[in-house]
Amino acid sequence: MRSFEYARPETEAEALELLAEHGGNTAVLAGGTDLMNLLKRDVIQPARVVDIKNIPSWRGLKPQDGGVLIGANTTLDEINEHALAADYRSLIDVIEGIRAIQITANGTLAGDLCQLPHCWYFRNGYGLLAMQDGESLVATGDNRYHAILGNSGPAKFVSASRFAPSAMAWDAKVRLVTLARSASEGADAVAPKEEWLPLDYFFQTPKVNSQGVTVLKPGQLITHVWLPAASDTRSATYEVLELCGLDQPQASAACCLGIDGGIVRSAKIVLGHVAPTPWIAHEAAKWLVGQPLTSDIAETAGRMALAKATPLSHNDYKVQMAETAVKRALLKATNQLGEIL
Ligand SMILES: Cc1cc2nc3c(=O)[nH]c(=O)nc-3n(C[C@H](O)[C@H](O)[C@H](O)COP(=O)(O)OP(=O)(O)OC[C@H]3O[C@@H](n4cnc5c(N)ncnc54)[C@H](O)[C@@H]3O)c2cc1C
Repeated sequence: MRSFEYARPETEAEALELLAEHGGNTAVLAGGTDLMNLLKRDVIQPARVVDIKNIPSWRGLKPQDGGVLIGANTTLDEINEHALAADYRSLIDVIEGIRAIQITANGTLAGDLCQLPHCWYFRNGYGLLAMQDGESLVATGDNRYHAILGNSGPAKFVSASRFAPSAMAWDAKVRLVTLARSASEGADAVAPKEEWLPLDYFFQTPKVNSQGVTVLKPGQLITHVWLPAASDTRSATYEVLELCGLDQPQASAACCLGIDGGIVRSAKIVLGHVAPTPWIAHEAAKWLVGQPLTSDIAETAGRMALAKATPLSHNDYKVQMAETAVKRALLKATNQLGEIL
C-alpha cells in the first residue's frame, strides 16, 4: 500500500477543506469496508484519506419534510434497528441479504452508493473501461458477471451498489457538498456549496477512464440521503445471490408500488447489477399501472424490463435471472412471493 495522509475532521467545514486540498486527489473513508481494499490493491492512489466517521451531524436518522434523513456515517445496522426505517421495506430487504456482520456493522448507505465496480478487470488495474490496445478486455474475455443492459459503449461493468435500486425506487435524494469558487466573495474565495440531487441523476456511464461512475466531482461527497414519506407505498427488493460467500448479487430488482382497490396506481422498478448504472425499467412500470398485480402480470413485467437486453458472450444467463428478480420483487411487495416458491 502506498503512503497517504490521514485526516479525521469533526465538522462539515473542516471535512470540505481537507477534501478540496491536493487538487481534490483525496478519498472519503466511511466504513472503509471497500475503500481499504481499493487502497491495498493500488486501484486508487489518493494523496489524503479523509475519515468522516467523527462528524456528529452526519450520523443517525431523523424525520425531515415528511420523510427520513439518513446521515452518511450511519451504519447499516443502525438503519436496520431504527424505527424510522421500518417502513422502507425494500432497504431493509437489502440489509437482511448481507451475510457479513463486518459489512453491516461498519458499512454505510452512502459508502454503498459510492462504491466502485467489482469488475475484475478494473480491480486488477485495467481501468474502468478495461481497454487494452484499443480492444475491450471484457468483450473478448470472461464477462460472465458483466452488463446485459446499457453495454453498447465502452463501459461494460455493472454498478456495484446494492442499495441504489431500492433508494431510486423510493425517489431518494442525496445531499452533495463541496467547496466551490464563490464569485461574490472575490476571485480566490471558496465557499461551501450544497446541492440536493435526485438519486436518478447521481450515476453515470463513463465514456473514458477518467470519468467516474457517479457525477461526484473531486472533493465532493454525500452527507445525507433523504427518503420521501413511505405512506402507503409497498416496496421490496429481490436479489439473486450465490449460495455462499460475500458475493455481490448477480442481478437484483427493487420496486415501489402504490396499490388501491387491488389495482396498481403507481409503480417504479429499478434493476441492479445488470448495467453500468442502476437501471430504471420505465416501460414495465408504466405498463403495470391500471392492472391487478397477479403472478402472470409480474412475469410479463419482468420480461418487459429485460426486453432490450444485449448480453455479452458469457452472460446471457443473467437475462432470465433479472426477469425473475423483477417478478419476485413485485410479488414480494404484495405479499404473494410465498405462493410461488
Ligand atoms: C470483500 C468485500 C466483500 C463485500 N461484501 C459485501 C456484501 O456482502 N454486501 C454488500 O452490500 N457490500 C459488500 N461489499 C461492498 C461494501 O463493503 C459495502 O457496499 C459498504 O456498504 C460500503 O460502505 P462503507 O461505508 O464501508 O464504504 P467505504 O469503503 O468507506 O467507501 C466506499 C467508496 O465510497 C466512497 N465514499 C464513502 N462514503 C462516501 C460519501 N459519503 N460520499 C462520497 N463518497 C463516499 C469511498 O471513497 C469509497 O470509494 C464488500 C466489499 C468487499 C471488499
